[in-house]
Amino acid sequence: MGDRFTPEACHAGLVEHGLIIPVGAKGIFGRSAVFEDVLERFNLLVSKTGAGDRAESCVFPPVIDRKVLERVKYLESFPHLCGSVHSFTGNALQALALAERAREGGDWSEMLTATSVTLNPAVCYPVYPGLAGTLPAVGRIISIIGWAYRHEPSDEPTRMQSFRVREFIHAGTPDQVVAWRDQWLERGLTLLRGLQLPVAEQVAADPFFGRAGRLMGSNQMAQKLKFEVLVPVISSGEPTAICSFNYHQDKFGEAFGIRTADGEVAHTACLGFGMERVVMALFVHHGWHVEDWPAAVRAQLWPEGLSARVTAP
Ligand code: ZN
Repeated sequence: MGDRFTPEACHAGLVEHGLIIPVGAKGIFGRSAVFEDVLERFNLLVSKTGAGDRAESCVFPPVIDRKVLERVKYLESFPHLCGSVHSFTGNALQALALAERAREGGDWSEMLTATSVTLNPAVCYPVYPGLAGTLPAVGRIISIIGWAYRHEPSDEPTRMQSFRVREFIHAGTPDQVVAWRDQWLERGLTLLRGLQLPVAEQVAADPFFGRAGRLMGSNQMAQKLKFEVLVPVISSGEPTAICSFNYHQDKFGEAFGIRTADGEVAHTACLGFGMERVVMALFVHHGWHVEDWPAAVRAQLWPEGLSARVTAP
C-alpha cells in the first residue's frame, strides 16, 4: 500500500463516498449530510471544550463592509486573496449588453461596479468594530462560526476558496489574551488528540503577499505571534494546518478604538478551527465510513450513539 496521504487519494475518497460534491469551479464543492453531521458534531465538542470561557456567541454573514478591510489594511498584506463583490448598476440598454456578453461567453465583469462589500476573508474581522470602547476588566471573549473566502482555487481538497472556521476572539490586556491563547493551544491539542489525530504544533506565518510580505512573515515567526496545529491529510511530509492561534498585539485595538478597563489600547488574540479540514482529517485517518471509526472517537462525537446521526439523503 502506498502513501495514503496524497491530494489525489483524499479527493477521490471524499468524492467516491459522496462526502463532497464537485460543482465545476475549484475549491467550492458541496458537502453531504454525513460530512455536515461530522462537522456539526465536532463544532459541539469545540463548544464543550470552551464552555468555561463563557464566550458571547454571534453570527455574521459571509460578506463584510469593505471599510473594515481597509481599516485592518488587508490589501497591504493579502491583495491576492481578496474577493470583492461587484454588481450591475447600469440602465436597461446596458443590461441587454451585459446579458448578450454573457450569452456569447465574453468577459462581462468589466460591466459591473464594486458594491460596499467584499467576501469576508477572516471570520473574526466583523467582530472588532463591535468591540470599540472600553472593555470590562476581564476583557471580552466572542465565539463565532462563519464562512471565509480566499482566492486560492485549487484541485487540492484542503485548499478551498470558501470554508468555515469556528473561532474564539479575546480582547483584553496583553497578559490576559496571551495566557488565554496558550491555554487554548493546550485545549486544542488535547481535543484533537482525543479524536486520535496525530497532531503537532508549530510556529507559523500568514501567507503575506510579495517580498515585503516575506519580511512580515519572518517577523511574525520571530515573535511567535502565530501557532498552527498540523496533521497529515494530503501529505505525510507537509501536514495540513487544521487550527491556528493568532496574537494580533494592539493591531485591532488601535484600528477600532478598543480600550482596556484602565484605558490602555486593548490587545486581541483569536483562534480558529478549520472545520472542513478537521472533518477531512477525521475521514482520512479513520476511514470513509463513520461506522468503522474507532469506538472511542465515535463515543465523543456521537455520545448517544451513531443511530442519532443524520443519514445521507
Ligand atoms: Zn481570527
